[in-house]
Amino acid sequence: MQARIVQLERDLAHLIRHDQLTGLMNRPSFVHDVDLIMKDANHDTSKGAMIEVNIKGLPRITGSLGRHVGDYVVSALAARLNLWRSADSLCCRLDYWSFAVFIPKIGEPLEALTAAKRIIETLVQPIDWVDRKLTLEVSAGVALTSNEEHDAAGLLQNAGLALKMALDRPGAGYGFYNPAMAQATKRRSDVLTALHDAIENQYMHLHFQPFFKSSNGDLMGFEALMRLTHPEMGVITPGEFIPVAEESGLINKLGAWALAEACHVASSWPSHLSVAVNISPEQFYSGTLLTDVHNALELSSFPAYRLEAEVTESTMLKDTEMVLQQLTALRDMGSAIVLDDFGTGYSSLSYLWKFPFTKLKIDRSFVQALETTPMVRGMLQSIIGLSRNLGLKITAEGIETQGHVEALREFKCDFLQGYLTGRPASASDVAGIILKNFAEQLRPPEKSNVTQIDTSLSLKR
Ligand code: C2E
Ligand code: CA
Ligand code: CA
Repeated sequence: MQARIVQLERDLAHLIRHDQLTGLMNRPSFVHDVDLIMKDANHDTSKGAMIEVNIKGLPRITGSLGRHVGDYVVSALAARLNLWRSADSLCCRLDYWSFAVFIPKIGEPLEALTAAKRIIETLVQPIDWVDRKLTLEVSAGVALTSNEEHDAAGLLQNAGLALKMALDRPGAGYGFYNPAMAQATKRRSDVLTALHDAIENQYMHLHFQPFFKSSNGDLMGFEALMRLTHPEMGVITPGEFIPVAEESGLINKLGAWALAEACHVASSWPSHLSVAVNISPEQFYSGTLLTDVHNALELSSFPAYRLEAEVTESTMLKDTEMVLQQLTALRDMGSAIVLDDFGTGYSSLSYLWKFPFTKLKIDRSFVQALETTPMVRGMLQSIIGLSRNLGLKITAEGIETQGHVEALREFKCDFLQGYLTGRPASASDVAGIILKNFAEQLRPPEKSNVTQIDTSLSLKR
């Protein structure tokens, strides 16, 4: 009887501490045991390594072949991991598609990386299922014990951050934790909070940067650019908050607001001026973009032909057919469709004829290379000539010097935008820019000054 009770207690203890499917330790017992080791390790200052492993293809396998196949794969991977590990290391199943391994003693950091590589090589081997081979993508994040990190939960969190870095960089395979990652994560979460605050308290606003006809300096319109000044955090740049908004899904709300606000502000401008709004790829995938555009135009009684939609190449990489339909619908409404940032990313010219673009915007890095890289002149001329043959208008952005103005005029680029011709300005300063350009148009040609470089007048002939 006593023996049965002891056995029962043992079985129960095992049940509580282990994952039922794989027999590996479960998360709570793993964290508990690693904590105990880390306390010891602190005494003899030996280094430990935590490796978090993610199996990327698992949801796909479970979704297409069923949960039982997913379970089979997880068990097979767990068995491989168990075979691989050394006697003193601990393995656990963290959740459905991730595992963790703790190696208590590692000589130097490189050893931890080697271990992570070995784990990936072991797990990535295809798994036989009936008459097929199931392939998986495996990534790993590595964090070392240190004087700052005293508990298993913190160490696991660090390995998770390193893993996220590996997952964010295609082909990276594994990532290695460094303290800057924690700072970057904290900053991202602060920026996300600031974005929520800004939406709730309505302190998001737009600036407007003018663009001009290159041949005669006439003002053609403005590009709307989002601005975020948080009461405590100060100015947060779009380069920082747009990716956070995209990752969190907030960009749909912000993008709809930017469309409505830009149309509202522009509805008070003279009727020959357009407003260009940047549209994030996420807005195309959300399915609400066309409704947001309709609402923005209708609320301000703003005509579609004065709205320009700026998109980057990354928009066309996913759900191509769906993106194409929406771009075509926007163009059919009469809006200009602009391919932004050309000269960065893939710079694939095939997009120009496969998608309904009406305008190409040459990135500022290209314009700036004009003065440093001789071959850029020829390239710019070719791109402009080719775009013109396709019936597209061309804007060059990042115009910062009179040399840029002269070169792009010579290449017959249609429009110019940049700090030289006009920096992004608040909605209330736009009226002054419009009036100034209007006055310039009235001025007799001989009085205009071509060499003046710090205002939009630098374009006037
Ligand atoms: P972008 O669409 O390429 O916008 C042009 C950026 O270049 C703006 O930066 C502008 O201030 C800057 N710029 C203009 N002229 C010059 C110049 O001569 N020299 C230099 N060095 N820079 C110049 P900003 O406002 O910081 O915006 C950065 C990016 O954030 C934008 O790049 C765009 O991708 C994104 N963004 C801004 N507003 C929105 C928005 O409302 N929606 C979305 N989805 N993205 C936005
Ligand atoms: Ca843009
Ligand atoms: Ca751009």
